[in-house]
Amino acid sequence: MIHHLNCGTMCPFGRRLVNGEGSLLAFGSMVCHCLLVETDDGLVLVDTGFGTADLREFSRRFPLWFRVVCLPRLDAREPAIRQVERLGYSPADVRHIVPTHMDLDHVGGLADFPDARVHVHQPEYDAAMRRMSASEKSRYLPVHWAHQPKWEIVGSGGDDWFGFQSVRVIGDRVALIPLYGHTRGHCGVAVRRDDGRWLLHAGDAYFFHREVHADPWCPLGLRVFQRAAALDNTSRLRNVARLRDLHAAHGDEVDIFCAHSPDDFARLSAG
Ligand SMILES: [Zn+2]
Repeated sequence: MIHHLNCGTMCPFGRRLVNGEGSLLAFGSMVCHCLLVETDDGLVLVDTGFGTADLREFSRRFPLWFRVVCLPRLDAREPAIRQVERLGYSPADVRHIVPTHMDLDHVGGLADFPDARVHVHQPEYDAAMRRMSASEKSRYLPVHWAHQPKWEIVGSGGDDWFGFQSVRVIGDRVALIPLYGHTRGHCGVAVRRDDGRWLLHAGDAYFFHREVHADPWCPLGLRVFQRAAALDNTSRLRNVARLRDLHAAHGDEVDIFCAHSPDDFARLSAG
């Protein structure tokens, strides 16, 4: 069983530039799409969105650019820990966390699950610890790992997965799929469903659901934002093209979605 959780709603201004429809003068809508996967080795959380401490200390923790541009709703019902509890689990049942990358809107919930093993791709871990550029200083918040998580650093190599490199992290159920560009070590996370087909959580490899369709399109606001946020825009664009090819060739076996698309979230959380 795989649960789809929205662990952070953001409402950037200029709806048409973000959602591709509606008024330019309205607030848009973006989600932080996370997965809660029931496995033989306990619950696995893919991405975490915002944590409870983020909501309490939002203006102290988050940089001004993020507060102004992304306008998170800070809904106390949205952190992953609250949703895990509502599903009838204890937070301690979450044994593993697999972030797509370590940006401030993806790992805020780590501290709510201090006993979980956190599986991070080595280049992403190094980038977040070193924070070498100005943009990395403002996107990676050390307060998110001040509790010293139980890191499991995942190297490269591994298996072939539909033509992509794949590094298994939880048995044959969950694998990291390196998709560099948005950050130095950004990954997708492939999760095998009970019926044998796959979900690919593509994180921030792209932002608008139609970018991987045969007739790709993305609203202007998201196009500009993605380019500005990319550590390596050439790699980012190459990986979006690879995901488009994957969707065209194997769309019946692999369901691809991105972290912030409300369209993807509505489609997948409806079952
Ligand atoms: Zn993000």
